[in-house]
Amino acid sequence: MKIDRIEAFQVQWSPHDKAEQRSAFVRVRTDDGLYGVGEASPMQGGLASLGMIVHNIAPALIGADPMDQAVLQDRLLHRLVKLGPEGALTGALAAIDIALWDLKGKAFGQPVYKLLGGAWRTALPFYASIGGNGAGRSIDEVLGIVEKRLRDKPAAIKIRFDNPRIDLDEGIADHIAKARAVRKMVGDDFPLAFDANNGYSPSGAIRVGRALEELGYWWFEEPVQHYHVKATGEVARKLSITVSAGEQTYTLGGLAELIEAGVRMIQPDIVKMGGITGLQRAAALAQAHGVELVPHQTQPMIGHLASLHVAAAQLHATKPCEWNDPSTRTHVLFDHPPVPVDGLFHVPDRPGLGIDFDAKALAARRVDIGACD
Ligand code: CA
Repeated sequence: MKIDRIEAFQVQWSPHDKAEQRSAFVRVRTDDGLYGVGEASPMQGGLASLGMIVHNIAPALIGADPMDQAVLQDRLLHRLVKLGPEGALTGALAAIDIALWDLKGKAFGQPVYKLLGGAWRTALPFYASIGGNGAGRSIDEVLGIVEKRLRDKPAAIKIRFDNPRIDLDEGIADHIAKARAVRKMVGDDFPLAFDANNGYSPSGAIRVGRALEELGYWWFEEPVQHYHVKATGEVARKLSITVSAGEQTYTLGGLAELIEAGVRMIQPDIVKMGGITGLQRAAALAQAHGVELVPHQTQPMIGHLASLHVAAAQLHATKPCEWNDPSTRTHVLFDHPPVPVDGLFHVPDRPGLGIDFDAKALAARRVDIGACD
């Protein structure tokens, strides 16, 4: 079996959306008629990753054996490292890796989690990730959204503050007040998390972290700038609440540095670094260090399912899987969209990832970036 065609495309969600608002996908086809689907990081519409796939990655993959996904990824990462090993390149390689795993599952007639060694669980609880709780939203509005998301029966709620990352420590009193109001609404025992989105200085983060400890929050995500690894570790070591980071870390070495600094919960993202192959390696690293792996994942369809397959096969799953703000618009494009039933995502046992594009819906929304064959 050989790879004989790779397509890179965006999907348009409305006729007037901008290129940077679209999702980014790939489809890898083989000479015996199989194909696999993958998703790239959607940052800025995934255009940089899709461009690298068309111009730099796909030409090197035509004719290759799709079963060699790890060798292909590592070879290309090293060959293209000077394009910048973090971000667009790892997102591009992640999309290809996910598609090759989907293909591999279809070739063997097995769901991806079986190829990863089997599932510890196939029904996975999730946490509702709720963004935009900063200055533009009142406390009552935050509570209204939390109340609405509780109807999906999440196992936990995370409130995000989506800071612009420039005005550090702005709005701390407001953030704590919102964290307190949410705690009061859901009661003492409901698991809650707080995502600073890199909005604080180390001392600001410690102030917020102490308040979250008193309020019984489960974890405190990205308290300081992601590139200040030592400072992230310093905050983690000074607080008793679990401090997490890693959604903006693109290499295994980067995750190792976070762990070494003192971070006890890492959150790599399957569409940003390494795909399924990369996330499995991250799981091994976390397990070796006794650190929690709770993947970041905001894409509701292919990325989400790929992440669920890895979570199903993960030995220690200490926190629920992330489910971002739900968007029904993405469901129209796929044949078996993952939706939670009674608070659980069920990992499909169909071959591969267990999801495919609906051909007609895709034809109406597809924006081609290029193909290589
Ligand atoms: Ca986050």
